[in-house]
Amino acid sequence: AKARGRNGFSFFAPFMMGEGVERLRLETYLRRSIEKDEIFLNYQPQVEIDTGRLVGVEALVRWNHPELGLIPPIRFIPLAEDTGFINQLGKWVLHEACRQMVRWQDAGLHVPKIAVNLSAKQFERGSIVNMVADILRDTGLEPQRLQLEVTESVIMNTGDAMVFINDLHSIGVALAIDDFGTGYSSLAYLKQLPVQTLKIDRSFIKDISTDVNDEAIAIAIIQLGKSMNLSVIAEGVETAEQAAFLLRHGCNLAQGYFYSRPLTADDMFTRWQK
Ligand code: C2E
Ligand code: CA
Ligand code: CA
Ligand code: CA
Repeated sequence: AKARGRNGFSFFAPFMMGEGVERLRLETYLRRSIEKDEIFLNYQPQVEIDTGRLVGVEALVRWNHPELGLIPPIRFIPLAEDTGFINQLGKWVLHEACRQMVRWQDAGLHVPKIAVNLSAKQFERGSIVNMVADILRDTGLEPQRLQLEVTESVIMNTGDAMVFINDLHSIGVALAIDDFGTGYSSLAYLKQLPVQTLKIDRSFIKDISTDVNDEAIAIAIIQLGKSMNLSVIAEGVETAEQAAFLLRHGCNLAQGYFYSRPLTADDMFTRWQK
C-alpha cells in the first residue's frame, strides 16, 4: 500500500488502498496523536469590522502526522467521533485553548475571549460541565472569556444538550451557535437557550453580493439576532465587499481570511501584540 515517491521515498497514497484499510490506519495513528505531540491548535482572529479591533479568537485543532503530513479536521474529527477518541481530544483542545489564553496574557497580549468547538459526542458522557469547570480552575481563565461553539444539530439532536448548556451557562461560560442557518433552526428552542452569539455560516457569506437568496438569509439572521439581543458574527469573510455588506446591514463582527487565516499561537502573538 505504499508507492515510491519521486525521490525514492515512500509516501502515503490513500487512494491506493481500500478505504477500510486507510481508516483503520488513520484510527490507529489518531489514538496516539496526543501523546506523540502531533496535535496542536491554530487560532483565528475575530474582529470588529468598523474598528478592526480584536474581540476574540476561535481555536481550531490541527493534526500533523510525521508521514501523512497535515491532516485537516474534516478528515479526523468524524473519525474521532466514531471511535470515542473525541472525548480525549476535546478535553485536550479545551485545556490547551484556556492555557494559551493565560500564556498570551502573561506575555502581554490580551485576547478578550476564546471560542472552542464542541462536538455532539462530548455531550453524551454527562460530565462536560465538570470537565469545563476543572479546566477553568486549573488554568485560571475567567469563565466569561471562554465561549463554546455548538451547532444547531447538537442542540436539537443530543438528548441532554439543553441541560448541559444551561449548566455551562450557570458557571459563566458563554455559548455560540455555530453554522447558524444550516441546521434545524428551531426558533422556539433559541428563545429558551442561554446563548449569546449566532455565527452566520460561511455558505451564506460566500456569494453575498451575487446571490440574492444568500443575502436575504444573512440579513434575516442579523435581524433575528438583533431582535433577540444576541451578538451576530459572520464566518468565512474573505473580501472587503462582504465586510462592507455586513456592516451596512448591522453585523459588526467577522472572522475570515480577509482579516486573517488561522495562526499558530506564536504568530498570533507577534501579529496582534501592539
Ligand atoms: P468551523 O467550526 O465552521 O470552523 C471554521 C472553518 O472555516 C475552519 O476550518 C477555518 O479554517 C475555515 N475558515 C475560516 N475563515 C475562512 C475563510 O475566510 N474562507 C474559507 N474558505 N474558510 C475559512 P478548519 O480549521 O479546517 O475546521 C473545519 C471544521 O472542523 C470546523 O468548522 C469545525 O467544525 C471542526 N473543528 C475544528 N477544530 C475543532 C475542534 O477543536 N473540535 C471540534 N469538535 N471540531 C473542530
Ligand atoms: Ca466553529
Ligand atoms: Ca462553519
Ligand atoms: Ca462546523
